[in-house]
Amino acid sequence: MNCFCCSGKTFSTCCEPFIFQQKNPTTPEQLMRSRYSAFCKEQADYLVNTHWPIQPESITQINNTIKTTKWSGLKIVASPQPLNDEGIVEFVAFFEENGTQQLHEKSRFKKIDDRWFYVDGKHLPPIKLNRNDACFCGSGKKQKKCHGI
Ligand SMILES: [Zn+2]
Ligand SMILES: [Zn+2]
Repeated sequence: MNCFCCSGKTFSTCCEPFIFQQKNPTTPEQLMRSRYSAFCKEQADYLVNTHWPIQPESITQINNTIKTTKWSGLKIVASPQPLNDEGIVEFVAFFEENGTQQLHEKSRFKKIDDRWFYVDGKHLPPIKLNRNDACFCGSGKKQKKCHGI
């Protein structure tokens, strides 16, 4: 099956080994993608273990999001080369709630003892999508014929 993160790879060669801790992500983008897939797969432990530092409110939020949100795709907007063990990934996570909605976020990541962690993120306004572009979900259909906008 195709990976949740819309990489075009299969789940078993993309995010699955990270989520089930067979290996650690080597870039912030890999961690970002695998955290998105962990939300889709309802793997709260992975989300908690890769978030640093984590507060009790964040654990509650992770569990609530897993319960209530139906994710439909991920688009990486920018993923620059990390600098001094700090990285940034800007992404849009799409979800279904009265139509397709966007969570557009610029996230910060930090490498500690050779492992990447999610630190926090800043929400941004939705990005503009082109109705004639290929849909973010990787279906191969045009945006307007798939997750319509
Ligand atoms: Zn993936
Ligand atoms: Zn679609």
